[in-house]
Amino acid sequence: MAQLVWFRNDLRLTDNPALHKAAESGEPLILLYILDERAGAASRWWLHYSLTALAMDIEARGGRLVLRRGNPVEVISGLVKAHDVIAVHAARSYEPFWRETDRKLDVELKEIDCGLYRHLSASLFPPERITTKVGGPFGVYTPFSKACFEAGVPEGPLPAPATLNCAPIESEVLADWKLLPTKPDWAGGMRAEWTPGEAGAHARLNAFLAGPIQSYSEARDFPDRPGTSKLSPHAHFGEISPRYVWHRAKATGDGKGVQTFLKELLWREFSINLLWQYPDIRTQPIRKEFAAFPWKEKAGHLAAWRRGQTGIPIVDAGMRELWQTGWMHNRVRMICASYLVKHLLIPWQAGEAWFWDTLCEADEAANGASWQWVAGSGADAAPYFRIFNPVLQGQKFDPAGGYVRRFVPELEKLPDAYIHAPWDAPSLVLAGAGVRLGRTYPKPLILPADGRQAALSAYEMLKARQ
Ligand code: FAD
Repeated sequence: MAQLVWFRNDLRLTDNPALHKAAESGEPLILLYILDERAGAASRWWLHYSLTALAMDIEARGGRLVLRRGNPVEVISGLVKAHDVIAVHAARSYEPFWRETDRKLDVELKEIDCGLYRHLSASLFPPERITTKVGGPFGVYTPFSKACFEAGVPEGPLPAPATLNCAPIESEVLADWKLLPTKPDWAGGMRAEWTPGEAGAHARLNAFLAGPIQSYSEARDFPDRPGTSKLSPHAHFGEISPRYVWHRAKATGDGKGVQTFLKELLWREFSINLLWQYPDIRTQPIRKEFAAFPWKEKAGHLAAWRRGQTGIPIVDAGMRELWQTGWMHNRVRMICASYLVKHLLIPWQAGEAWFWDTLCEADEAANGASWQWVAGSGADAAPYFRIFNPVLQGQKFDPAGGYVRRFVPELEKLPDAYIHAPWDAPSLVLAGAGVRLGRTYPKPLILPADGRQAALSAYEMLKARQ
C-alpha cells in the first residue's frame, strides 16, 4: 500500500498539509508533479528551478520527486492502480481547471476504492468560509478583510517531514520538458533577480522581516526603493505558505507596516475569493455592463506598450522591468494597466494575457481580479472616472526618476524636472541630455490629458448604451 501526494502550486515541504498527512501514515509515498501546460513563458522558467529545488529538498530527506506529463486524471489513476495507492493528497486549488479536474478525479478514484483528500494550503481560509452576515460572498474588500481578521488565521505552521520514504517509481527528466528559453535566452535578468524554491522564499521573507516590513506602509508605493517583500512568485508557486508568512509577519510586532502588510496578504485572499465566485474572471467582466465597452485599439499600440515604447517614461520603465525581471512593482502595474485600458482603450484582456506570459507569478486570481479592478469592471473597482495620470504618478512615486533611469537608460541624463514628461523639456535641455524625441525615445502614443478625455468619452458611450 502507498499514499500519493500530488504537488501543484504547493512546491514546498514546510507547512504542506497534504505532504504532512501522507507522511504521517508511515506508508511508502509517491511524490508526484504533473506538468501544468497552461503556464506562461516566465512562469515556466520559474517552474523549472522551483521543481529542481523541490526535488533536491526531497532527495535530502531520502525521497524522490516523480515527474509526469499528461492528463492528471489518467496519470494519477494509472499510478493508483499500479502501486496499490489508498489515498491521494493534494492542496485545494480554486482555479476552474483544477476544480473540474478534481471533480473528475474524485469520481475515477472512488471507483477504484482510493480517497482524494484536498487540504487547505494555498489560502488562509476556504473561500466559502468568509461570508457576509447573511451567508453570501463578499464583493467589497474592506468588509471582507475585516471578516478575515475576525475569523482569525488558523495556527500553524506544520514542520517539514524529517525523512521521506518513497516508493521506487520512474520519473520523467525535467530537462526534457524544455521549460527554459534557449534561442534566444531572455532569462538573464530573471536569473540575476530571483532564487526560485523554498529556500529562496524563506531568504526573501527573512530579509523583508529584518527591516523593510516596519516601513512598508510608506515605502511600498515607491518603485525605486526595496519597500515590498517580492514574495509574490514564491507565494504563487506555494514555495511558502500564506499561513507561515502571516504568523512570521505578526511575530515582528503590530506597527503600521505590519498591519498594512497583513492587509495586503488579504488582497491575495480576496482575489482567490473572487475567482471562486467568478471562475471566468480572466476573460469576462464581473460588472456585466462592461462587456459592451467601446474599445478603440489603434494599430501598433499594444505592441508598443508590451515593448515599453509608449513614450510615457514610467509606463515604459514598468513594462521593461516586467520583460527583464518577470516582475513589476505594484504601483507601476496599476499605472501601466491603466494607461493600456483607459488611455489607449485596449481591452484589459489583452493586458492580462501579456502579464500571464511575462510575469513569473502570473496567477489566475490575482491577475484577473487586478486587471478588472484597474479597468473598472471588477469587484470593488474605483469609479471609472478616477483615471491615473502617469506623469503625476511618476512625479509623486518616483520623484528623483531613479526607477525610470534604471529601466529607460536613454533618458538617463534628463534633469529630474523632465524625466516623467520629456515632451515638455525645451529643445536645448533635450539636446543636452542626448534625447531626440521620435528618434532615441518615442513621442507619447497619447498624452495624459488627451488619454483621459478619450477614456471619459468612451465611458459616456458605454453609459449611453445601457
Ligand atoms: P507585497 O507588497 O510585499 O505584498 C505581499 C503579498 O501580498 C504579495 O506577495 C502578494 O502575494 C499579495 N498581494 C499584494 N498585493 C496584492 C494584490 N493587489 N492582489 C493580490 N495579491 C496581492 N499579484 C500576483 O500575485 N499575481 C499576478 O498575476 C498579479 N497580477 C497583477 C496585475 C495587475 C494589473 C496589478 C495591478 C496587480 C497584480 N498583482 C498580481 C498584485 C500585486 O501587484 C502583486 O501581488 C505585488 O506587486 C507583488 O509584489 P510583492 O510580493 O513585493 O508584494
